Formats: sequence, C-alpha cells, structure tokens
Amino acid sequence: MTYPSPEGATPAMAQWFALKAENPDALLFFRMGDFYELFFGDAQSAATALDISLTTRGTHAGAPIPMCGVPVAAAPAYLARLIRRGFRVAIAEQTATPESRKGGPKGPLPRAIVRLVTPGTLTEDDLLDASRQNLLLALASTGKRSAVRIGAAWIDISTGLFELASVSPMALPDLLARLDPAEILGDPALVTGEYVSRLAPTIAPPAPASARSILSRNLGVAQLDAIGDFPDEQCVAGALAVEYIRRTQAGRLPRLARPAQVETGAVLGLDPATRASLELLRARDGTTEHTLVSAIDRTLTAAGGRLLGLWLASPSTDLSLIIARQDAWSWLVTRTELADPLGRALRSAPDLARALGRLSAGRGQPRDLASVRDALTCADVIAGLLAGAGSAQGPRLIADAEQNLANRVPDLHAALNAALADDLPARVEDGGLIATGYSAELDRARSLRDDSRRVVAELQVRLQAELGLNSLKIRHHAQLGYVVEVPAAMGASLRDRPGLLFRQGTTSVARFSTEELASLDRAILDAGERALVLERQIFASLAEDTLASAALPEIAELFAFLDVVRGAAQLAQGGDWCRPEMRDDTAFTLRAMRHPVVEAALTGDARFVPNDCVLAPDARVMLLTGPNMAGKSTFLRQNAIAVVLAQAGLPLPARSGVIGIVDRLFSRVGAADDLARGRSTFMVEMTETAAILNQAGPRSLVVVDEIGRGTATLDGLAIAWATLEAVHSDLGSRCIFATHFHELTDLADTLPRLAPFTMAVREWRGDVVFQHEVRRGSAKRSWGVHVARLAGVPEVVVRRAAKLLGALEADHARARAPLPLFDAGQAAAPEPHDAPNAHSALHEAVANLDPDAMTPRAALDAIYALRKLALEDDTVLGRG
Ligand code: ADP
Ligand code: MG
Repeated sequence: MTYPSPEGATPAMAQWFALKAENPDALLFFRMGDFYELFFGDAQSAATALDISLTTRGTHAGAPIPMCGVPVAAAPAYLARLIRRGFRVAIAEQTATPESRKGGPKGPLPRAIVRLVTPGTLTEDDLLDASRQNLLLALASTGKRSAVRIGAAWIDISTGLFELASVSPMALPDLLARLDPAEILGDPALVTGEYVSRLAPTIAPPAPASARSILSRNLGVAQLDAIGDFPDEQCVAGALAVEYIRRTQAGRLPRLARPAQVETGAVLGLDPATRASLELLRARDGTTEHTLVSAIDRTLTAAGGRLLGLWLASPSTDLSLIIARQDAWSWLVTRTELADPLGRALRSAPDLARALGRLSAGRGQPRDLASVRDALTCADVIAGLLAGAGSAQGPRLIADAEQNLANRVPDLHAALNAALADDLPARVEDGGLIATGYSAELDRARSLRDDSRRVVAELQVRLQAELGLNSLKIRHHAQLGYVVEVPAAMGASLRDRPGLLFRQGTTSVARFSTEELASLDRAILDAGERALVLERQIFASLAEDTLASAALPEIAELFAFLDVVRGAAQLAQGGDWCRPEMRDDTAFTLRAMRHPVVEAALTGDARFVPNDCVLAPDARVMLLTGPNMAGKSTFLRQNAIAVVLAQAGLPLPARSGVIGIVDRLFSRVGAADDLARGRSTFMVEMTETAAILNQAGPRSLVVVDEIGRGTATLDGLAIAWATLEAVHSDLGSRCIFATHFHELTDLADTLPRLAPFTMAVREWRGDVVFQHEVRRGSAKRSWGVHVARLAGVPEVVVRRAAKLLGALEADHARARAPLPLFDAGQAAAPEPHDAPNAHSALHEAVANLDPDAMTPRAALDAIYALRKLALEDDTVLGRG
C-alpha cells in the first residue's frame, strides 16, 4: 500500500494521516458518523478484499481521494473477512460527540485508535471460531549459537490463558504445530513454512531485565519470582506478548491467568509431519471432516470441543494425569443415570470463558454478564448432580469438580440475579439492562424520566383542546427535542400565538416549542442521561466483581472438562471402546483395534476388520508387507492414533489395550503422497526419515509407511533396509514398518526382534480379495496387476500387464545378483557369491520355460523341478 505525503491535507485528512502513521501496517477504519471509512491504498485493498464499491471523496494534492466505507453496525462481519485474509485493522473512533463539543473548538471531531484488530488478539464471537483456541505466540531466543534456547509465550486473550515454555530450535516446529497459533511475534528467522504468513510486524524484544519488570508490572506482582522461576528467554517472550496485546487494546491489558510454565517433555512429542499424517484436528487438505477429532467428538459445548482439541493436540506423558482422566470418565460410565441430566445442564451452560474474555477486554455487553449469571446457576445444578451421584467418594478429578462448582461466589451470583433485567438490550448504551428494584437511585431517575413523558402526553391533550387542533402532536425531534407539530397549513395561524415559539417549518409541518415543553424536555433528557450513567456504573461494578473472582475461570474450565469426560464416557458406554491400561514401560498390546475415521467412513455393508498389534520387547519391530489396498496404511495409522487417544486419557476403539507411555511418536504414513510443498517426494521422505533417526529413542513409537517409494527400486530398497536396521538395532524404538519391498522380510532371519506380518489376501477365481487382516508371515506376491483390475483398468491392459510381469520377473531374476541379505554385520554368514550356481540354475530353468507350449502334465513336472532347485538354493544360503 502506498500513500501520498500528508502535505496540504484538509484538517480531517491530516488527522487521518497522523493516525495512519501510528499503525502503518494496518488498514485504518476511520469513524465518520455511522460509517468506518477507508482512504487511499487502504480503500483500494479493502474494496477488493470485501468486494464493496470503491469511490472517491474530496481531493488531496489535486487528485481525488479513493474511498470506501462499511456501516458501523455491520463492521464485525467485514472485520472477520479482512482478518481471515491476513489484514490487520486499526479502529479510529470519535472521542467526542458533536453535542459534547457544542460551543467548543472548531474543526474535525477528535479521533483516536481504540483498538488494533489482529488475528491473535480477538475476543468477539463474530471473529472467533468457537471450536478452536485462538493463540498469540511470542518467540524470543537467547544464548549463543551452540546453546540457543527459544522462549515461547502463548496467550489466548479470549479466555485469559497464558503459558510459557523453553524449547530448543529443533523442537520449535513441534511446538508450532501443536499450538497452531493465529499470530506470531518475534524474530522472523525462527519461523518457517506455513507459519511465515502469521508473523506480525516485527517489534524489538525487550532486554531480559526490563522484560521481567514489564511482566511483574502487568501481572500485578512486586517480584516475578513470587509466581515462578522463569528463565530469561521466557520472560522476554512473555513481555513481548503482553506489550503487544496492550498495544492492540489501546493500552488496556485484559485479565490474564498467572503464566503457567509448560514442560514440553510432559507432552507426547508429535512433529508436524506426524500430526499431518494422523489428521488429528485437520485433514491434509485443511478441512476438518475426516479427522480424528470429528470421529470421536461427543462434546455438547464449544468450550468442551476446544478442550478436546487441546487434549488431542497435546497428549500427555504423565502417567498420573492420564490415569486421573481415565478415572473420571470411567466413573461416569458407571453412573448411567447421570448422562442425561448432566448433558442437559452442560448444553445450557454458556461459553463462560469467552464471555469473561470480552468483559476483561472492556468489550463486555449485557449478555456477557447474563452468561456469568447463568454459568453460576448451571454450576450449582451440576454440582448437585455430581454430589447426588456420590462424587465425594468418586475419583479425584470428579470430587474436585463438585467442590469447585458448588456455591461459588454466592454474593456475585445473587447480585447478578437481582440486577439483570429479563429482556436485555444488545449493548450497554441502549439502557434497560438493570432490573427495576435493584437500585433505588436508578429507579428514581427512571420514574422521573417516565413521569415527565406522561406529562408530555397530557400536555398534548391539553394543547389540542386549547387550540382546537386535533391534528396537533407533540413529537420528539432529533435536533429540536420535544416540539409541537401541526400541519403546515395551520402553522401560520399559530405563529403569533403567545407562548408558542416558532422553530421550524417544512412543506408539510410547522414546529413550535413552549417554555413548559422545553423544561420537560430538559428534565426527561437529564433523567434519562442520569439513568444511563447509573446503569453504566452498575454494569462496570458487576463486571469488576466478575473479573475479580478466581472462581469463574475455574468454573469455565470445569464445564469444558466435564463435557469432554462425559463425551468420553458416552463412547466407552457403547461397549466398542475400552479403557487402555497405561504403564510406565514399553508394553504395546492392542486387541481388536479399529481406525475410528476409516470405520466411520465405510459405507454399505462394509465392516471394519479389527486387528491386534503386539510389539513385545522381543518382537518390538513389526514388518508389514502386503499388496496395495490391503489395509497397511490404515493399520499403521490406527496404532499411532491409539497412542494419541490413550495418552490424551481417552478411550480406545479396541477390545483392550496395554500401552507403555510413549515419549515421542513418529508417523510417516502416506507421506510419500505429500507433494504440496514443492519438494520432491524423495526429498520429503528422506528429511522425515532423518528426523526419526535423529530423534527416536527406546520409549518412542515409530510408524513408517512405504519408505523408499520415491526413488529407484534399488535405492529405495537399500534405504528402507538401512532404516529398518537402525530402528531395530540402534534406536530400540517400538516400530511398525510397512513396505512393498518383500525382500526385507528375509531380514527377520538376522534381526532378532523383527517380526514379519502380512495382510491376508485370498485369491478367488483369479481375483484378489482383501481381508484386511494382519497375520504373521510375509507376502508372497504384490498383486499389483489385480489391483489394477479392481480399479477398472481395461481388461486388455490388465492381461497385457500380467504377461509383461511374467517376462519381467524372469528377466529380473536372471539379471540380478542375489541380494546381500547377510551383509548385516553377521560375520558367520556365508558370502552370497559363494553360491552363484544354484541361483542361476533356478533362474535359467524358469527363463527357459515356455508356458504356451506346455501341456498341464509338463507344467506340473516343471513345478516339481523348480521347487527342487529352489530348495537347493535355500540350502546353499544357509536356511534349509
Ligand atoms: P494400503 O495402505 O495397504 O494400500 P489402505 O490402508 O490405504 O491400504 O486401505 C485401503 C482401503 O481399504 C481403505 O480406504 C479402507 O476403505 C479399506 N480398509 C483398510 N483397512 C480396513 C479394515 N481393517 N477393515 C475394513 N476396511 C479396511
Ligand atoms: Mg498405503
């Protein structure tokens, strides 16, 4: 966006230029009466983005000024669109009204920026996604090149959440993927990929010492140490975030929770590739339809949905936390009578966290206080339900919930019950939000106003009679106040009438005022104003009491928590979901596990085939072969998903499960199909393989699909082989490794903890039937030609392919030296070239067959002969 020089601007435009200079990166919404107007480059950008008409207003430096505008009443919808398109918007309001300036200085009304609307600092329901957190993330790095620490601070001002962590540069991508922030502050060099577009304009980070004082001042504590031991990098990031928020809210900092330090090790390590591969909260195409969260979400409220998303985005590694969550929903499973009433109560609970967020940002409205009132009522109802079901003897989180919901802030609750009117206006300025009987002073002001209105009505009747004019009306007029209004034709006869003062004439009416009317007008105005002021004061004081209460954010969290565990209990109640046994070792046994998303997507009478997965210490690497479409990727994903669900503390779609806590989960399923980022498939694959080999350990679970697919066969085979060996022998991770290189199954002979499995396939009248069943053993064929037929490739092509395959296989066998299967460091293994003859004899025999010329009997004989050769072959290789 470019802008002309402000030189020679009209006074109003000079004001615009000054405000624009305060926030050059944001579109300036310049308040003019009932519109926000945009000028120059802002107008051009906004008109295009919003698809509204671009006009001009006045001139500047001899050229017309481009202009567009949006009505104030419709501004939220337009703001939402601009924010979604990556704009930031500065809102400049008039800070005085024309009336308040009567007789005062001339020139344009004073204006000031009251708010900078940015993606990470939103509080309005219109601008927020109810189902997701909305985070502002600040990053700050300290330390020298070899020991850089990155401090991260993230804040959701719509709920007051404030958390801090320190991470290594290598762990930063994980954190970004986990938090998925709406807006990022800090050194742009720290951020890559899709997150670059979420960077806010750079602001210089404060020095550590001043960062500490910024934080303690903003959090209202004398010494930061009093609330935690925060390293420098966290303080700098925290101060950056807090100061930025203050700036966007025109100097006012919304209520924030005490910053909580997050131990990144307390969370299951999930890197961006793993998250993408598992489609936890978002599918690869960015939609939310076929995701894990959509398949398991049984929550009833937006806050519950947000919390469930959070649990899935950051599963725990803390055994006691996981078990506490399991205990909570297991308890609900046994209290079937609670399900319905609890569900009803939760459904009636308002989105308290977001209401508190608006109140603390100074943008609260009457309905937000009503939300607080209803939430407190709801909290009592829920506490009663829990107590009635014996929560006191129940698990810790349930007993705590009951304790922290019952009868909290009773004074505030009573005050809100008494204060709020039945029919609430949308905005405080509209008046009428406080019920009669709450404040004697307010009631007096209102009755004065209403009495005077009645007197006005009586006056109209009196004047009609006195003047014999039934068409006379007393009306309220925007500029003139209360006036006597008569048809224009009658106007002239009243002009000289004593007591009537002519004010205005139009073609249809004449307007007069009287002494009495003027004083009534003043009285009504004063009483009305007074009532409004009183209402505003009462609102402000109730809002203040609300924000002072520590109970309310807790209640908001408990609603969300109960919603999530109620949903988990509902899943578990069906009988198809189980509570996994969680342990502090490396166990991994899933019985009859299913993939919840694939299962939900099956249509017709297709049934999902459950599968076991056992990764015992002596067989912790599972090698899975099988043709395309047999269900390998699904099986891989479902086992990775089991870890996410189990460590989130949620039920599993399985008959039973025993899982030793996983510290990092690596899933590379379907990665080969991810070309979106413009790197070659192979490069992506290798980068991701490198990440696994560099980071996985004995507590990790590694799930790899079709590694080496992106390159030439031999390259791919070699890389898959080496990776499998490394995972098996060096990393010691639990691993499921799916491959189409059937050659790798032979490695089971040399790698003691490798267990070969395959997808069961049945041949039926020359066609292949996938049974989706995982069995011990290895695949004999890849069935690619059959899959081609299933996919609808024309029969002639399929036949031709089958024929070519036969020839190629024979060729391949003849041309290639045997694979060096014993080159795995085992000195005892004979060198492959010790036995060239048996092998080539077999190849030669196969190659020399002429199937078209053979009788069935000759073919059978040939098979016997080949088998004999093959057995000799095995003997020579040491496997007989
Ligand atoms: P592969 O990775 O072996 O090519 P996929 O895992 O992609 O196979 O599965 C192919 C299709 O088979 C899936 O889209 C799904 O419809 C079906 N499928 C996979 N696993 C199962 C199962 N266990 N039960 C029923 N259908 C399954
Ligand atoms: Mg696959």
